[in-house]
Amino acid sequence: MFQRYSPSLRFRFLTALCAALILALLALAGVSKWLILPALLAEERSVVEQELDRLERSLKLEEQDLLAKVRDWATWDDTYDFINGDAPRYSEVNFSQQMFEDMRYQLMAFFNARGDIHFLAGLNPSSGQYQTCADLANECAWMAPLVASMQASINEDPEQEKTALYAHIPPAIVASAPILRTDGSGPPTGWLFKVRKMDNNWLALLEDYTGLIISLDVVDETKLTQTDLLRFSNTIHAQRFLPLNRPDRQLALGTRLDRSRYFASLDTFRYVLLWTFGLMLIVIGLVLLLLERMVLRPLKSLARFAQDANIEALTNNPLTQRRDEIGQLAQSFLKQFERQAELTAELTELSTHDPLTGLANRRLFDKNLIDATQEALNQSTPMAVMMIDIDYFKLFNDHYGHLEGDTCLQRIADTMYEVAQTHGFFIARTGGEEFSALLPNTSLQQAIKLGQAISDAVDALAYPHHMSPLAPHVTLSVGVSALDPEEPANASSLMRSADQALYQAKAAGRHRVSQFNSPLASAEVSTHNTPP
Ligand code: GH3
Ligand code: MG
Ligand code: MG
Repeated sequence: MFQRYSPSLRFRFLTALCAALILALLALAGVSKWLILPALLAEERSVVEQELDRLERSLKLEEQDLLAKVRDWATWDDTYDFINGDAPRYSEVNFSQQMFEDMRYQLMAFFNARGDIHFLAGLNPSSGQYQTCADLANECAWMAPLVASMQASINEDPEQEKTALYAHIPPAIVASAPILRTDGSGPPTGWLFKVRKMDNNWLALLEDYTGLIISLDVVDETKLTQTDLLRFSNTIHAQRFLPLNRPDRQLALGTRLDRSRYFASLDTFRYVLLWTFGLMLIVIGLVLLLLERMVLRPLKSLARFAQDANIEALTNNPLTQRRDEIGQLAQSFLKQFERQAELTAELTELSTHDPLTGLANRRLFDKNLIDATQEALNQSTPMAVMMIDIDYFKLFNDHYGHLEGDTCLQRIADTMYEVAQTHGFFIARTGGEEFSALLPNTSLQQAIKLGQAISDAVDALAYPHHMSPLAPHVTLSVGVSALDPEEPANASSLMRSADQALYQAKAAGRHRVSQFNSPLASAEVSTHNTPP
């Protein structure tokens, strides 16, 4: 019952391994979600920021270029004189439609020292025609919003040269500088502004220059963030917000980038994940296989041997030859079994043999007697028993002492055992100085002879017993009884009759062999020539 419900080592190991695998997968998923994917997105964002930086730098470069051109014109005696009314052919000589188109100018505006318009030249955004005016009337009316922004800029900070992005439609890059002498001496006699509009042509040029797809918008809200990112499945839209001349407006400089790099990284990561998972499965499979081969199978066969406690099979098993932990386990099992077998043998010996003489004890005798009687009755074969008692042994003990009595008992036992061995019967010590013999396949007559042989052997030993009234040595009395085919019998009745025969031998003077004949009387069959 217990075994059926207790999970096997293999099952528990597999469960633990699966749990570890699930934990590892969860950890992988966690690492992917919270570390790897954010890192990939952050890297993508940094690439986008770099592109936007590049775009912004290109715009700055353009502003600086325009400023350099303004400075060049503004710090020039001819311009200085023109403002002061001393260069009448200045505009004719220096401005043309061609020059405006080549330089991509939309407007050049000259202001006098008071900030009033002195001269305006530009390309009309609707017609594309070159126009010059002294004020904003008529065909130059389109310049009005730009001029208003310029005059606001002059009022705000009249001293400095500067660049700005104007929030018009389309937005414009504007550079301005105070008008000075060629040697840079002042005071400024006015201001020169140059305007380059950021229209589609300008955008196309910037796209050529940067290799990016660019968008440009003037937006109303003031963004708190500097950069805005919108991710779509295959593209990413990014915008950088730049200040315009109006604080409530911003220039959204945008670009659209494809996300192939991000997806390539993602693919690589997925590939690595897949391989990691596959390798994990392979490793787990291998671990299970090795576990089965190296641990479970040997353990199982060890358990089988342990169950059988079969020393011989375990000794011959290759497990005991192994030098690893399983080998050590098998060897200690083997040692344990051997020790157990020794102990069992010792215990059996102790429980069935007499420690003083080494002969079988009463327990073993009784068992053998029952078995032999049963067999003899079943097979209808003859069988005899003997009861042997040392004569006057109390006198021996009293005279020679108990220790010497023990030694005597041992010698007598050895002598009787030799006779029993020689004639193939079984003898046991069944009392203090009493012994019993079991003689299968032996008739009463043969048993009497063997009883006499034992008695003679003890006589021949001539173990001194000077207190015996019978002889100068130790002697025996023997009672013999055999199964009578005519009489119903069993083991205890047989022994009872042998005991009676022994009693007869004692009563008749000891040192003799008596046989049990009938319930009425047992007959003495042999005596020694010693006085009673
Ligand atoms: P009997 O001829 O009638 O048999 O006389 P007995 O003296 O032999 O018989 P009794 O039964 O009176 O005495 C038996 C003696 O055997 C008593 C005891 O001291 C002695 N004896 C019994 N077992 C042992 C033993 O293990 N060692 C020794 N030394 N003596 C034993
Ligand atoms: Mg006795
Ligand atoms: Mg006795």
